[in-house]
Amino acid sequence: VTEAPQYDAVLVGASAGSLVAALKLSAAGLRVLIVEKSELVGGGTAYSGGIVWAPDNHRMRAKGIDDSLEAGAAYLEAIDPEDHDPEAAAVYLGVLPGLLTDLEEWTGITWVSYTGLPDYWSELPGGVENGRFLLPLTWVPPTDADTTLLKRVRAAAHAVGMESEWIWGRALLGALALAVGSADGVDLEFGVPVTDLVLDATGGPVGVDLATPDGPRRVVPRLGVLLNTGGAEWNRELVERFRSGPFPLPQTPEDNTGDGHAMALRAGLPLVRMGQTIAIPGVLVDDPPAGAPRCRIFFQPLAKPHSVVVDDQGRRFANETFFVDLAEAMSSSGRGEAVFVFDAQYVERYGLPAGVGVDVAMERADSLAELAALVGLPAAALEEDVATYNAAVLAGADDAFGRGSTPYQRVFGDRDRVPNPTTGTVAVAPFHAVRIRLTTSGHRGGLPVDPHGRVVGDDGHVVTGLYACGNIASSGLTGRAYFSGTSLGHALVQASGAADDMIARA
Ligand SMILES: Cc1cc2nc3c(=O)[nH]c(=O)nc-3n(C[C@H](O)[C@H](O)[C@H](O)COP(=O)(O)OP(=O)(O)OC[C@H]3O[C@@H](n4cnc5c(N)ncnc54)[C@H](O)[C@@H]3O)c2cc1C
Repeated sequence: VTEAPQYDAVLVGASAGSLVAALKLSAAGLRVLIVEKSELVGGGTAYSGGIVWAPDNHRMRAKGIDDSLEAGAAYLEAIDPEDHDPEAAAVYLGVLPGLLTDLEEWTGITWVSYTGLPDYWSELPGGVENGRFLLPLTWVPPTDADTTLLKRVRAAAHAVGMESEWIWGRALLGALALAVGSADGVDLEFGVPVTDLVLDATGGPVGVDLATPDGPRRVVPRLGVLLNTGGAEWNRELVERFRSGPFPLPQTPEDNTGDGHAMALRAGLPLVRMGQTIAIPGVLVDDPPAGAPRCRIFFQPLAKPHSVVVDDQGRRFANETFFVDLAEAMSSSGRGEAVFVFDAQYVERYGLPAGVGVDVAMERADSLAELAALVGLPAAALEEDVATYNAAVLAGADDAFGRGSTPYQRVFGDRDRVPNPTTGTVAVAPFHAVRIRLTTSGHRGGLPVDPHGRVVGDDGHVVTGLYACGNIASSGLTGRAYFSGTSLGHALVQASGAADDMIARA
């Protein structure tokens, strides 16, 4: 059934990008339909830390922290000069500061600095050691808030014990959902997956096919369609078609099945950077509650002294204090698994990491050899590698794998320990072991987009009326590297650009 174009824009997926675009389109007097496959607001974004990487942001300026957009641009180039998109960088850096303050005004959230968190590669040109990471730490809905949409915001499944609080990514989604709920001209439909894109070869308006409870429906809006359908983490067939190595276990909600990617392929559109993912060490959770992921992010505990990570041969293999390198080594070795070993000094000083021994399995033994037997590692190799590591620690030598060699790598260590906050012997019984896995916070490949979220076809031309943001969109903002805050930050910038483009075309 073809409908008359009742809407100006259709936004696919009720996550942060769509909600931002809806607020802008509504303020411009346009009519918007948001269609969401699940019954909830927010996909991976609801599970996220809500961190946005923003050079020279208003909170830095208020605190007198020195930064500039030029430094931000130099840093983006330095982290991957070979796959750098200066135009994407310029638009990101130019749009984000204003967008973040607009969001405070539109939704009542407050961005706070993640104090003391350096850029991942702060030692590179343009890097800084503090202030660029902002997050909506918490948000409090007004007491008279209409809770209709708030009840639909997905729980923050990785925030152990705080799942239903308004924190991090969930705080941003709650604040946006509340604002969208009272915006003029915005309709939301839940439990309605978009099944296909409708592309007119003659350049006519772009539409979508929906699978509604009443049967298929086609909606062709006047101005355009924004895809905010998330990553393809749960679509193993699609992931393995493009990516070699072990399958990274998804930390995202099961609805992230790469529907936007599949639609794009069926419509003959290109997909790029499909092998790239936000790879992070994680742990398997025993018996997670319904709807919660089986994998929990697990990297900060690995940077503390009195611990090492070894492979299935009982050998250290990467820098445990930089999860990017550790996950890359887990991936490139083809194993996808490793074992975190820590001793009684670790437990005495830092306690057990959240969940370990409760809903995350842990082995404990009175000697390294017994521990090795319990987790299936060669005992002699484990003892030998730990002895080598301990000797280097006691001699005050640099760590063979570079533990704690940059400001970012030291930040989750033990700040009271000098000179290296991340090193300390693994020598006091009982010894403990936790199995860690290669997991992903989201795949990064998708439709090529220009810096304003406009989809670019195979011929290099913008597909008028088709936009993408978040993990279905792929750009060279951070090249082959990834660092926190650019996934959500870019989703917001792309969605804002898409809305501006539609408004300009209206
Ligand atoms: C544990 C964790 C921590 C993270 N922390 C951060 C962080 O601090 N900072 C950061 O920048 N990034 C972080 N990320 C990554 C970040 O959450 C996302 O990558 C980013 O927010 C982009 O999400 P998105 O907009 O692509 O979509 P999502 O939030 O995943 O939403 C996609 C939506 O589309 C819907 N959908 C899918 N298919 C269809 C369809 N066919 N029809 C209709 N709707 C559909 C889904 O149901 C879902 O609601 C984290 C991720 C995880 C898992």
